[in-house]
Amino acid sequence: MFVDTHTHFYDEWLRPDAEAAVQRALDAGVGMMIQADVDSHERPAMWEIGDRFPGVIFQMLGFYPGSVTADNWQQELDLVHALAKGAAGAEQATKGAAKAEQAAGAEQATGAEQAAVARPRFVAIGEIGLDYHEGEQFKEEQKEVLRSQLELAAKLNLPVNIHLRDAWEDLFTILADCRHLHLRGNLHCFTASYEIYERANRYGDFSVGIGGVVTFKNASLAKTLERIPLEKILLETDAPYLAPVPFRGRRNESAYLPYVAAKVAEVKGLTISQIEDITTRNALQLFNLTQSPDSNKKTGIIQNQETNKIPETIQNQGTNKIPETT
Ligand SMILES: [Zn+2]
Repeated sequence: MFVDTHTHFYDEWLRPDAEAAVQRALDAGVGMMIQADVDSHERPAMWEIGDRFPGVIFQMLGFYPGSVTADNWQQELDLVHALAKGAAGAEQATKGAAKAEQAAGAEQATGAEQAAVARPRFVAIGEIGLDYHEGEQFKEEQKEVLRSQLELAAKLNLPVNIHLRDAWEDLFTILADCRHLHLRGNLHCFTASYEIYERANRYGDFSVGIGGVVTFKNASLAKTLERIPLEKILLETDAPYLAPVPFRGRRNESAYLPYVAAKVAEVKGLTISQIEDITTRNALQLFNLTQSPDSNKKTGIIQNQETNKIPETIQNQGTNKIPETT
């Protein structure tokens, strides 16, 4: 069984056939998938899909830097804190959600209410981080939001899932300040250098999330990956974005995770099955996942294979074109 440590079934590109996409992932041997949270607009759909696959789909809780604006950041952040409280205890949850409801307005209230009733626990705080790629106008707000959520993760003793684009120096300043929190987590969609990986690990215990980019031609990531210890490697798709070769440029889905594993296996000189075992162990440990009978039962296509061949059932399924962004 593989674990996709970062995916978005609720994304508009995947939502219409999310259920079929989950089944394709299971058929391809991807037995567990973790959905990264972005904001209150997407969250109800994330939960709705997650609720249909207990023990198979897990969720994170977090406010994504790309969604931060001057107008929404405080409300969205308050909501995350209220929901986190909700997950921690039902009593307080009702109060927290009610409070957030008043603060956040009707649309977000739906999400808060649901959380107060019966939320599956969150396995991580994410995806959180900094993203200056589209501009630096909300940089200060992003930093504040990140700091607050790092503290939340430490308080709940949860790992963090970090999204980072064009902002490493600011991340390191924040991580240095947060050193006392003894953070652990992963750097999602890691494409940076070994030095960056090493620097992050001075301030906490960070793995790297390796996705489709590693399969791209000329990706320097393969070189970096050679030096990263196996116990620090997690697999992810970031579906529907960043599909691996041979689906590059098309809609990505969790079922393509074995293509990422195949490339990692090649770089590390191991078999896919060995990479599967190692990265799954890493993921179960970091996110403290418990396997349900379901997550194992439906997998198997790739389990017994002796070669590094990708199962044919998941080939040629990329359909829609999609931009390569995260
Ligand atoms: Zn993502």
